[in-house]
Amino acid sequence: MVDRRWMYLDNRTCEEYLSGVKSFIAATEADKLNRHLCAICCPCIDCENMTKFSSSMHVHAHLIVRGFMDDYLFGNEHGEEGVNDRGLQDGHMGEGISVS
Ligand SMILES: [Zn+2]
Repeated sequence: MVDRRWMYLDNRTCEEYLSGVKSFIAATEADKLNRHLCAICCPCIDCENMTKFSSSMHVHAHLIVRGFMDDYLFGNEHGEEGVNDRGLQDGHMGEGISVS
């Protein structure tokens, strides 16, 4: 579970927001390297994830000056793991009953 409340703090110079942006940039940089991308999308309120920058410094500055776009979801591409386990267990119990 990722806590995204810091993204929408009114005070974007407070410690909570700055450290949040810092870890966001670090995660974005790691993702950029993993996927061999040459640029990263800026999720700020003006760029709306449509504008790409080769340097995370630009994105970092935008997020502090402008803030995150309204409905930005952190890590929505690969953050849905661990949902399948419970469903499999329920299915297994149902099969045992229906044999006879
Ligand atoms: Zn931007």
